[in-house]
Amino acid sequence: MARIEVGILGATGMVGQQFIALLANHPWFKVTWLGASQRSEGKAYRDATSWRLPAALPEDVANLVVETAAPGNAPKVMFSGLDSSVAGDIEKAFAGAGHLVISNSKNYRMDPTVPLMIPEINADHLKLLDQQLAARGWKGRIVTNPNCSVIALTMALAPLRQFGLRSVMVTTQQAISGAGYPGVASWDILGNVIPFIDGEEDKFQPETQKILGRFVSGSIEAHSVAVSATATRVPVHDGHTVSTAVQLEQKVTPDAIVDAFNCFRGRPQELKLPSAPPRPIVYLTERNRPQPALDVNRGGGMTVSVGRLRPCPVLDYKFIALGHNTIRGAAGAAILNAELMREEGLL
Ligand code: NAP
Repeated sequence: MARIEVGILGATGMVGQQFIALLANHPWFKVTWLGASQRSEGKAYRDATSWRLPAALPEDVANLVVETAAPGNAPKVMFSGLDSSVAGDIEKAFAGAGHLVISNSKNYRMDPTVPLMIPEINADHLKLLDQQLAARGWKGRIVTNPNCSVIALTMALAPLRQFGLRSVMVTTQQAISGAGYPGVASWDILGNVIPFIDGEEDKFQPETQKILGRFVSGSIEAHSVAVSATATRVPVHDGHTVSTAVQLEQKVTPDAIVDAFNCFRGRPQELKLPSAPPRPIVYLTERNRPQPALDVNRGGGMTVSVGRLRPCPVLDYKFIALGHNTIRGAAGAAILNAELMREEGLL
């Protein structure tokens, strides 16, 4: 079977690099086009990027010339890891010109006609694409994935919906790769915790409510859960840790919660999508886990690790969840969306 040609917007960045690494041997998709800023345009990819990943840069992609981030000769399916300051206009231009843009940027996440996808949780939200055509008049489409910490959090909350999710308090410990490359100055982050990430905390409640919401008569009915977040940056390479406390409507035992985490499966597992981890959530029983250094690459970086479930004297239960921010939280998430769309006949 011929592989589907795909392009990457923001190919030189942290997320762009992860797209290239994850797509290197993908059974369905082949990277044939790269776009970035004027700083990179016209250069061979190997010279335009500062490759930071342990996986070798694939030779065929290394030799591709980086193009202007504008539609023209780009393939129909485009992954975007664009800086959010430019993603709004560029992604709109691509969607208008008939491309399917699968984006990591915040710009369109809360648009009522744009799906905000975690395929294990809300595969049916792709139905919003019918409304997008009518509302926007684009020849193409935009599909988004959530903020990287919100993905780890919401994956862990999804199995608890059955117990009635009422409210959530979360404090994140976010890796430096989450700030792109070169990201946070070493002077600022080494031996330190920075208790502020611009614009981050405000995303938690609306994105979580949309992801966990229900598709009803052509739109998303947001979940009512209240989410209060504190976001911090810590000197960790990869992996966002989310320390979480939840209040539930039902009385439930710790065993039932652990069972819900471990049994959680979704449409990607049903369809056996290439990037779907067999177990989207794994509960770790060791008392000092999950840890980014030990657990971030579980399931190829697509599994969210959860541990330390214990009673909370203020809400009901507390636990720790960990997700790989540039794989499950970005490039891997977008690729999973594309795989789902292919299987649903939407590519
Ligand atoms: P990054 O390392 O700073 O990369 C940004 C990319 O955008 C680079 O390829 C850059 O190209 C390109 N770009 C900047 N200005 C441009 C312009 N005027 N025209 C065209 N391209 C331009 O950032 P990142 O960490 O990969 O994040 C990319 C996006 O994903 C952001 O929206 C971010 O919020 C989101 N995200 C990141 C993570 C994460 O963990 N890092 C997780 C989830 C979502 P040049 O190299 O040519 O400047």
